Amino acid sequence: MFDVIRIPAFKDNYIWLLRKGAAAAVVDPGDAQPVLEVLEREHLSLTAILVTHHHADHQGGVSRLLAHYRAEVFGPAVESITGRTTPVRGGDRVRIPFCDIEFQVLDVPGHTLGHVAYYGAGCLFCGDTLFGAGCGRLFEGTATQMADSLARLAALPDQTAVYCAHEYTQANLRFALAVEPGNRCLRSRAEAVSLARDEGLPTIPSTIALEKASNPFLRCGEPEVVASARRRVPGAKDAVAVFAALRAWKDGF
Ligand SMILES: [Zn+2]
Repeated sequence: MFDVIRIPAFKDNYIWLLRKGAAAAVVDPGDAQPVLEVLEREHLSLTAILVTHHHADHQGGVSRLLAHYRAEVFGPAVESITGRTTPVRGGDRVRIPFCDIEFQVLDVPGHTLGHVAYYGAGCLFCGDTLFGAGCGRLFEGTATQMADSLARLAALPDQTAVYCAHEYTQANLRFALAVEPGNRCLRSRAEAVSLARDEGLPTIPSTIALEKASNPFLRCGEPEVVASARRRVPGAKDAVAVFAALRAWKDGF
């Protein structure tokens, strides 16, 4: 097993550092400086970089990290990823050098067309696809693609720890409560998150079980979610249409 260290970056990004012995891997290093500081402080050698998608806040630090460490760079095959040494696709298994960690690559298009997630050892690194109580915006893909991607993630074991790339949970919960005010699990999550954020604590990782119970984007078949979506888009008849209605509503929320 490995330790996961949270490295805050920019305004609300998280870069995840995986440590096993003296070796480390990072997921989505949008900025190199905070990663370099942790590597130095903890006396770690960076052996791998995993990138979920091409946005700058997920890979902007790669070239500077490569100037300091010779690391293997995993990234989606169909996107432009700086310094990528190993293109990955859904179904691939990737081994992190010197760390004895293996991940399964999942295709999760929607936020971008080539977006991938890395799943292994009970951990999911899902970039900007699934967030705490929310999901990524549809910059490149369709609602159908994103709904399928989220369904793939929701099918992972309940106890899977969800390491997404942004601390958006509190704002997402405000929207979730507007969609599904009758969900008791959602209300208690909102209270817990509010207390955590008041103390400056992170709300990530969450779990697949918690997301399934309180994330409206994973609950597009629930009667209250469907009814709320149909008040916005009366013709939203199936789960994908409900998802699309929620996504558009959230974009303007
Ligand atoms: Zn992104």
